[in-house]
Amino acid sequence: MKIQMVDLRSQYEKIKDEIDAAIQSVIDSSTFIKGPKVAEFELALANYLKVNHVVACGNGTDALQIALMALGLERGDEVIIPTFTYVATAEVIALLGLKPVLIDVNPITFCIDVNQIEAKITSNTKAIIPVHLFGQSADMESILSIAHRNNLYVIEDNAQAIGACYTFSDGRVMFTGTMGDIGTTSFFPSKNLGCFGDGGALITNNQILAEKIRMICNHGQKVQYYHECVGVNSRLDTIQAAILLAKLPHLNEYNIARQQAATYYNELLKDRIEIVCPISDPKSTHVFHQYTIKLNGKLGSNRNQLKEYLKENGIPTMVYYPLPIHLQEAYQGWYSQADSFSVANELSSQVLSLPMHTQLSEEQQKFIINCITEYNRKL
Ligand SMILES: *Cc1c(COP(=O)(O)O)cnc(C)c1O
Repeated sequence: MKIQMVDLRSQYEKIKDEIDAAIQSVIDSSTFIKGPKVAEFELALANYLKVNHVVACGNGTDALQIALMALGLERGDEVIIPTFTYVATAEVIALLGLKPVLIDVNPITFCIDVNQIEAKITSNTKAIIPVHLFGQSADMESILSIAHRNNLYVIEDNAQAIGACYTFSDGRVMFTGTMGDIGTTSFFPSKNLGCFGDGGALITNNQILAEKIRMICNHGQKVQYYHECVGVNSRLDTIQAAILLAKLPHLNEYNIARQQAATYYNELLKDRIEIVCPISDPKSTHVFHQYTIKLNGKLGSNRNQLKEYLKENGIPTMVYYPLPIHLQEAYQGWYSQADSFSVANELSSQVLSLPMHTQLSEEQQKFIINCITEYNRKL
């Protein structure tokens, strides 16, 4: 049985004709940069997300950096982020000379712990970047109200949750990435909506911000060779846009396939006290970018050995993330001794992400869980 962490090949095979034709049409037109498919994809994604503006860019990390630049953040301004996240969220803050303020995560959702945010706000705080980790929304209602009370911008890092929806207490339902001032996302191949290389986008309802973002993505110019502000060169290739246009109509079915695989994992793992399945927040749909379990007791202290055992049996797994930001060598000195980050520390030593993709079969899932059971029995 050949099990992959992410099966991009089989996903491609299912819509090969559409994708191949899309790529060929770009080659035929030779408009590799800024071709019409880019604007077409931006519009299609904006319609899907029910938002006014989508601006495509080079990748999800650039999207975060451009968002901070578009909001006019300056050296020394403070930005609040969760410490349990992919490095990109932290990296862009460091690159722009801003000051990151790290917050621990909620033990249930693994997203930023909203109860710890307000104590960290100072007169220099300018923005909060919640990360919709592993495919479900952070507690946006609380985050938006904290931001409102304290006059802060909100940038949603939506690289892992495109297509997820959040329900507010008044019944409004919104897509992740569309609730804050700016949302960012990534089309890295393994993301829920992935292209065949690098890609990313910024999402906003604010027209002035959208224009600023578009200008920054394109060297700070609206009119060619007239540079109004310092920008970057960050764009989505036309070939990638064409691929994404072909894949976007399948996003819902891809997310449903992930949800079905997650439901089956939950079923196989029920009544297992040593394993905590991902817990879905009733306020958010979960699109399972990752299916991440938390291992308790003996299994938890043998996480790395379990990972090795599964690998010997042909089962790839990943640890997202083995170190929270505050323990990364590059980011030392970003927190004070008073911070404990106990949840993030525990998660980084006890989480394990199981194979999760749109082509996973029940046989494969049974085999994976049986192998974990076998290993646990030997402990
Ligand atoms: C993937 C990812 C990014 C960065 O996206 P790239 O396209 O790889 O630059 C940023 N934040 C999170 C949470 C991610 O998972």
